[in-house]
Amino acid sequence: MNKALLVAVLAGCTAVVSSQPRADYPAAPVPFTDVHLSDSFWAPRLERNRSVTIPHNLAQLTESKRVENFDRAAAAMASGREGQFCSVFPFDDSDVYKAIEAASYALAIKPDPALDARIDELIAKVAKSQEPDGYLYTARTIGGPPPQPWVGSQRWSYLYLSHELYNVGHLYEAAAAHFQATGKRSLLDIAIKSADLVAKEFGPGKRTNPPGHQEIEIGLVKLYRVTGNAAYLDLAKFFIDVRGRTDARIPFELDGKTQLLYGEYAQDDKPFVEQTEAVGHAVRAGYLYAGAADVAALRQDKAYMAALERIWADVVGKKLYITGGIGAAGAWEGYGPAYRLPNASAYAETCANIATFLWNSRMQRLALDAKYADVMERILYNGVLSGLSLSGDRFFYPNPLASFGQHERTPWFTCACCPPNVARVLTSVPGYFYAASQDSVYVNLFAEGRAAMSPRGTKLELRQKTEYPWQGDILIEVDPERPVAFRLHVRIPGWARNQPVPSDLYRYIEPPAGVPVLRVNGSEVKPPVEKGYAVIDRTWKSGDKVELSLPMPIRRVVAHDAVEADRGRVAIERGPLVYCAEGPDNDGRAANLVLPDGAALAAEKRPDLLGGVVVIKGVGEAVAEKGGRVGSAPKPVTLIPYYAWANRGKAEMAVWLARDPSRARPAREPGLAAKAKVAASPKAAYPQRVNDQYDPESSDDGTGYMHWYPQKGNLAWVEYAFDAPVTVSESSVYWFDDTGGGSVRVPASWRLLYKDGQEWKPVVLKEQPGVARDRWNTVTFAPLTTSALRLEIQAQKDWSVGVHEWSIR
Ligand SMILES: [Zn+2]
Repeated sequence: MNKALLVAVLAGCTAVVSSQPRADYPAAPVPFTDVHLSDSFWAPRLERNRSVTIPHNLAQLTESKRVENFDRAAAAMASGREGQFCSVFPFDDSDVYKAIEAASYALAIKPDPALDARIDELIAKVAKSQEPDGYLYTARTIGGPPPQPWVGSQRWSYLYLSHELYNVGHLYEAAAAHFQATGKRSLLDIAIKSADLVAKEFGPGKRTNPPGHQEIEIGLVKLYRVTGNAAYLDLAKFFIDVRGRTDARIPFELDGKTQLLYGEYAQDDKPFVEQTEAVGHAVRAGYLYAGAADVAALRQDKAYMAALERIWADVVGKKLYITGGIGAAGAWEGYGPAYRLPNASAYAETCANIATFLWNSRMQRLALDAKYADVMERILYNGVLSGLSLSGDRFFYPNPLASFGQHERTPWFTCACCPPNVARVLTSVPGYFYAASQDSVYVNLFAEGRAAMSPRGTKLELRQKTEYPWQGDILIEVDPERPVAFRLHVRIPGWARNQPVPSDLYRYIEPPAGVPVLRVNGSEVKPPVEKGYAVIDRTWKSGDKVELSLPMPIRRVVAHDAVEADRGRVAIERGPLVYCAEGPDNDGRAANLVLPDGAALAAEKRPDLLGGVVVIKGVGEAVAEKGGRVGSAPKPVTLIPYYAWANRGKAEMAVWLARDPSRARPAREPGLAAKAKVAASPKAAYPQRVNDQYDPESSDDGTGYMHWYPQKGNLAWVEYAFDAPVTVSESSVYWFDDTGGGSVRVPASWRLLYKDGQEWKPVVLKEQPGVARDRWNTVTFAPLTTSALRLEIQAQKDWSVGVHEWSIR
C-alpha cells in the first residue's frame, strides 16, 4: 500500500504514539511488499504457494470443519443455544489465521481478486464469531462440552493447555499482514478488539499466568507496530517476564496437583532472563525467543539480549541438525540433551524449524551479525523447504535426516500446524532478504530480483542478478535516484568462509577450495569484513555494480565427535544446500552407501530432475551381504538436495553417509525372520519393522522399530509364525530405548517361547536373556523345530518397551 494510505489508516487507529524517538532494532527488515523476486528458484515456489498450497490449505480448513467452528460460534451467540465444536483441537482456529496470513503475503506479491474475496469471506466469519467484548476462541463461544478434556469451559482457564492466547497471537500476525498487504482494516479491527480485551484481563495486578504455548508475544509486537499502541508491547513483555516466576503466578490444578509453573516443556521452569539452554517444546521455544528478541530491541533490554545470546549459543553449538532442523525428541516435540541428534528419528518439526528461522532473522537485525543470517539461510533452504512437497500440496511434520522408507509427506494432519505455517513463511520469504538502517543496507540472502529502500531518505533500487543457490556469482546493481553515501553490507556466507555453522558442532574435513571475491564496478576490492559482512562504504550512484563471486565447491562436513549418530559419517553440501542420498538415484538404497574421503565428486546440472536441481555424483561403495558374508563393492553414488527428497514415493534416504564400510548398514539377504508373519499383543505400533533386516546402530538410532508406547509397565509379546515348520537354535534381539528423547526403555525381563502343537512352551536357553542397550542380545539353545516363536516381554514399571530388530537362525 502507498505511504499516504498507510498514514491515513494509522490515523484511524486508537494509537498512542510516543513523541520520544522509540528504541527498535538497529536495522529494519525491508518489507515483503518492497522486495520482488524474479529468479528460477524462489519465484516459481512463491507462485506455487499462491496457486496450489494456499488454495489447498483453504480447502482442507473447510473440509476439516475448522472454518465451520467460526459459523457455529456465531450461531451460538445469535441463538443463545450451545452448539458443538466440530473439529478436533481447540487450537484449530489458529490454522485459519495462519492461512489468512499466507494469503495476505500472496496478495501483496500478485493481485488475485478471487483469493482476496475468499479471504474477505473468511474474515467476515471470524468477525461474527467474536463475542461483543472482543473474546475470540470458538471452542468456548460455541459452548457444549469442550473439544478436549484439557480445555475447560471457563474463559482464561487451563491456560497451560487451552491455546486461547496462542490462537489470537496468530490472529494478530495475520491481521498485521492483511492490513499491510491490502490496506483493509477488517481483520485488524477484530485483532485490536481482541488484544484490548486481553490487555484488560492480563498484566500486573490482574491475571498473571502466561499462555502454555507462546505466540501471542510475537503477535502483540506486530500489533504494536501497526497501531503504535504501547500497551500491546507492554503486555508482550509481561507474558515473557512472568514465565518461570513463582512469586508472580496464580496456582492452578494439573494432574490432580496444585502447581505454579508449567515446567521446562513450556520454557516455564525459571525466569526467561535466567535461562541458559534451549529446552522443551521447540515451537514454543522458538516463538518465545523470537518474541523476546522483539521486546529486547524495542525496550533495549540488555538482560533479554544476554539470555538470547546464551540460548542461541546452546542451540547452534549443541542442538542444531546440519539441515537446520530443530528438536531431536519426538516425545515432547522438542529439544533433547546436548549433542543427541539421532537421524532417522529426528523430529525437527517444520514449525520448529520455522520458529527458529524467524528467531534468527530477528537476531541478525538485533546484533547486525551475519552469523545469524547463516543459520537463517541453512534452516530456510533445507529444514523449512523440506516441509513442503515440490507439488505444493503435501507436507512433512517431522523432517528426519534418514529414512528406511517409512516416511512420506501427506496432504494434511489432524494437528495441522505445519501446512499453513510453511505457506505463510515461504510466501513471505522476500521480506527476509534485506535489512536497512539510516546509513546501512544489509544483503542477507541472494536471489534474482529487485528491492526498494531509502538509505538517508534517498530512494534506492537494488537489483540482484544471480542463479543462486546453484551458482555463486551474484551481481548487485545499485540504483539510487541521486548519489547517496551509505554502507552496503554484503553477507559473505559462513559456508564460503570455512565455517558451516557458527560453532564447533560441524566442520569441513578440509577448507573448501577458493575464496570469495568482490568487485565494485569491475575492480576487485577488499573491504573490511565486519561480523561476516563485507562493508562497502562509498557514495553510490546509479549504474554502480557490485559483483560477489562465492566459490561453490562440494564440501564434506563432519559433526562434533560427541554426536554419536554422525560418528564416522560425512554430509555433503554445496552452496547453501545440504545434500542426501535417496533410493531412486541409487538402486533403491541409501543406508548401505559409503562415501570415502578420497572419492572424487562432481556437480551436474539436471534441469529435468525434481523441478531442476544440481546433483552431486561420484563413485563410492555399497555394503551388502552375499552368501552370508558382508562385503563392499564400488558403487556410483548420486546425491540430491535434501529439500527435494521424498518426492518420488517412499524410499531410503540418508544425509549422513558412512566414510568407511564399517559404518554402513549392510543390505541384508533375507534371513529366516524376514520370512515370518509378524503378530503382536497387545496392539503395537509398526510390528512389521521388527524383521525389516536393518541392523540398528544403537538402541536409539531411529531405524525402523516396533513399540508399545504409550502402554507402560505391561506384559507384551511379538510372534514370528511360519507357513512351514523351521529349525532354529539362536535368537538375537536389539532393544529399542530412547532415553533422552522418549519413554521407551529396555525391558525388565523377557523369555522366548515356541509353539509345540497348540501349546506355547518356554525355550530352554543356554544364556541369560539379556536386556543390554546398544547391542544385540543373543541367546542360543538346542535346535528345535517349530511353526512359531514368541518373545514375551515384561516392560519396566512406568516405561514402555520396543524392539528394533529380532533375528533368528
Ligand atoms: Zn507444526
